[in-house]
Amino acid sequence: MLKVGITGGIGSGKTTVCKVFEVLGIPVFYADKAAKLIMHEDPLLRDEIKRSFGRESYLPSGELNRKHISAIVFNDNVQLAKLNAIVHPAVFRAFEVWAKAQQGALYVLKEAALLFESDSFKMCDRSVLVKSPEALKIDRIVDRDQTTAEEVKLRMKRQYSDEKKEKLADHIIINAEQTLLIPQILDLHKYFISISHDH
Ligand code: ATP
Repeated sequence: MLKVGITGGIGSGKTTVCKVFEVLGIPVFYADKAAKLIMHEDPLLRDEIKRSFGRESYLPSGELNRKHISAIVFNDNVQLAKLNAIVHPAVFRAFEVWAKAQQGALYVLKEAALLFESDSFKMCDRSVLVKSPEALKIDRIVDRDQTTAEEVKLRMKRQYSDEKKEKLADHIIINAEQTLLIPQILDLHKYFISISHDH
């Protein structure tokens, strides 16, 4: 099964692009959503998180205490790396199981905000970067999340720059106002189908 990783900075439109692939019949694994689900449901992972970040990592209701975890990892790269080292391998495993179950699909997509940062692109056969101008990304997220440009810029700093990601990506989709999005997606879709038999 051909596995395609897709990423892009905050507000680049990677989820929007994935929705179009889904309309074309391509199953999409949303790694960030899967991570949240696994942190909630996997008993071994819950124990590991509690051991590393304290019992208060989970609320009495059983929900993940996001505020607590965010406060620990937000400005501390060592703690963030520790969290990622616990969560990422579990997400990789979940993706492999999910991909095997997608019988009959022409290929599958894995959407991950940190595809390159987490090295998970190495487990994909192809990678796609969705790129947008910075000002447009900020405007979109301020609109979508009702937040401030400063807060968005802080979140952006925590990801690789587009320049760095571009060097690692096999394909680029430009999601800017002057370029048509759908034809770029259709071209890639045709290309992935054409190489899917070899995987
Ligand atoms: P995040 O990493 O924060 O989840 P993302 O890269 O997945 O962001 P989206 O959620 O797909 O980005 O897009 C951000 C916002 O911009 C959404 O509200 C989406 O509807 C809008 N948007 C993205 N691309 C376009 C486009 N080509 N035309 C109009 N709106 C768009």
